Amino acid sequence: MNRKIDVIEVGPRDGFQNLKEYLPAEKKIEIIESLINCGVKHMQITSFVHPKAIPQMKDAKEVSAVLLPKYPDLDLFALVPNFRGAQNAMNCGFKKVTNVISLSVSHNKANINRTHDESFAELAKILDECSGLEVCLDVATTFGCPFEGKYYDTAPLMAFLKRAYDLGIRTFNLCDTVGLADPAQVRNVVKAVKAGFPDTRVEVHIHDTRGMGLVNTLAAVEAGVDGVQSTLGGLGGCPFAPGASGNTATEDMVLMLNSMGYDTGIDFGMIWEAAKKEHADIADGVFSGHNIFVKDNSAFIK
Ligand code: ZN
Repeated sequence: MNRKIDVIEVGPRDGFQNLKEYLPAEKKIEIIESLINCGVKHMQITSFVHPKAIPQMKDAKEVSAVLLPKYPDLDLFALVPNFRGAQNAMNCGFKKVTNVISLSVSHNKANINRTHDESFAELAKILDECSGLEVCLDVATTFGCPFEGKYYDTAPLMAFLKRAYDLGIRTFNLCDTVGLADPAQVRNVVKAVKAGFPDTRVEVHIHDTRGMGLVNTLAAVEAGVDGVQSTLGGLGGCPFAPGASGNTATEDMVLMLNSMGYDTGIDFGMIWEAAKKEHADIADGVFSGHNIFVKDNSAFIK
């Protein structure tokens, strides 16, 4: 039996939040449902941030009200920057959220305007007061930071994760926020985290800024990661990280993993069509996908 890899679509949050033009809730829902139809079972569908900070996400409640009751068996979750966001997500019916803290102190300050102590105190509050809510941690800038450069020592990461682990976090999402990682580094880091925290679930979130999205994702898969995050069409960027481009494209990644014999549960032909449609529909998006420009993929579609 082929090894199963969880493909976690984060385009509806990480992709949409970087669009300048507001994408209506109905359009968001249409794209999310096109992904569900392709076999996507894990998806970050929105975030509960202040609408002044990211106006694109002002419809979080509306989007969740349609999707959560309709797909109770899917792993649909939201990003929450703070306790208030976690409360709002719970009130909208979410059972799972991700909170985000940057390993880089300077990026954490730029992204959510907090010190590490302040961020961990907020995370503790979410865990203490939102009982029944599964909280995962996005570790932004795991592999390097736009202000501090690439990280070569895993010791600060391990100390950072221990802090979160001790609060009760059991899912770590290692984020290459601006695409600084290389495959050897990803392999080392994933192996170190799996060895240091054997009872946790480990995922990666890779940006394709320097063309290393797929190789870094593959390095993570081969090092034993449990899930890989990506966005349809490679839509993405980072509003608070200068120079960040799109994420690894879901359809490119699915093509690679399916071709290699991994079980993603996602139909490549269908997700290729969904990506091309999204690319045609969203004029102001930053796309880093390759297959959206390929005219004939018939050799890959059975
Ligand atoms: Zn990202």
